[in-house]
Amino acid sequence: MKRFSYKNAKTISDAVSLMSTGNAEFLAGGTDILNLLKAEAYDKPPELLVNIKNIPGLDTISENPGGLEIGALTRISAIASSEVIKAKYPVLAKAAGSVASPAIREMGTIAGNLCQEVQCWYFRRSFLTGNTFDCLRKGGHQCYAVTGDNRYHAILGAERCYAVCPSDIAVALTALNASIITSKRTVKIDDFFKVMGNVLDDDEMVTGIFVPGQGSGTRQAYIKFALRPAIDFAIVSTAAVITTTDGKVSGARIVIGAVAPQPYRAGGAEEILKGKAIDEPVAEEAAAAAVRDARPLSNNRYKVQIAKTLVKRAVLSCNSSSL
Ligand SMILES: Cc1cc2nc3c(=O)[nH]c(=O)nc-3n(C[C@H](O)[C@H](O)[C@H](O)COP(=O)(O)OP(=O)(O)OC[C@H]3O[C@@H](n4cnc5c(N)ncnc54)[C@H](O)[C@@H]3O)c2cc1C
Repeated sequence: MKRFSYKNAKTISDAVSLMSTGNAEFLAGGTDILNLLKAEAYDKPPELLVNIKNIPGLDTISENPGGLEIGALTRISAIASSEVIKAKYPVLAKAAGSVASPAIREMGTIAGNLCQEVQCWYFRRSFLTGNTFDCLRKGGHQCYAVTGDNRYHAILGAERCYAVCPSDIAVALTALNASIITSKRTVKIDDFFKVMGNVLDDDEMVTGIFVPGQGSGTRQAYIKFALRPAIDFAIVSTAAVITTTDGKVSGARIVIGAVAPQPYRAGGAEEILKGKAIDEPVAEEAAAAAVRDARPLSNNRYKVQIAKTLVKRAVLSCNSSSL
């Protein structure tokens, strides 16, 4: 591992000012960043890690009249087991419970999960193997997945880089229309992710997440398909948050994970559902609309069918008459 300095931040402003001193990264649970450092996967490895784990007050889950505030350092395990989240935001509890393994959920934080790097094997290829790829994310000029082994890469909404957003929690939070609170501003989650990462400035820290309250007629579902569900990242996942009024859909947010550089809002499916009662043909139509714009690469056409199936199942499981 390349040498780096290590500083402990005691407050948010401490952390932010340490970040402004140069090529630095925040260190939360360390479950992602330390892997990247050990593999020497960075083109410009950070010279300083700013440990934020000791900043007090950022690991709480609190309900207020408008919704839920979750501190940035809240562990993923605490989100999965929180009684209030299980009762009122089950899509989030389920997504958090599906992340990695118990040990990683115990170490990893919600903000670290949102800000983790992509799993693309061209990007992560260790310098220690003697054969790295100067991909777009490392300042190169091409995405090696386009002509290479792209079985786990994007089928929707990718331009230039085809790595997918690996976060399960981001998919659920997008369906819940959450906002990311940072040391500088509040950003709607729909605007947080970019093709090459997220909108955070180098010295900007996520301090919390706000999840708006959901009405009583709202049903939620999270379904994840992974090769080894006990530890693996999603091949495809889906979150649905659907509100029905008098038996008809009055609001829907359908999101597909691991198919695009960001959690993918399936706007076509949401449109199909509006004003309709959910039944098998409607769910099928919505699922077809969700993947209408899919542009699979040479090895990942199979993801289109999985996405379609998961959307259909998630929509049907939000059918209030079946609950
Ligand atoms: C074997 C394995 C399996 C996994 N499976 C899954 C899975 O199924 N689903 C899934 O979603 N994830 C999975 N992960 C990823 C895991 O969830 C992340 O590593 C973890 O959530 C990162 O959280 P952390 O607190 O450890 O972040 P760190 O490793 O400390 O940081 C990760 C990144 O986020 C930045 N960061 C951290 N906190 C902040 C903040 N407050 N503000 C701004 N930037 C910040 C850091 O600078 C760094 O760039 C897996 C990881 C492993 C190793």
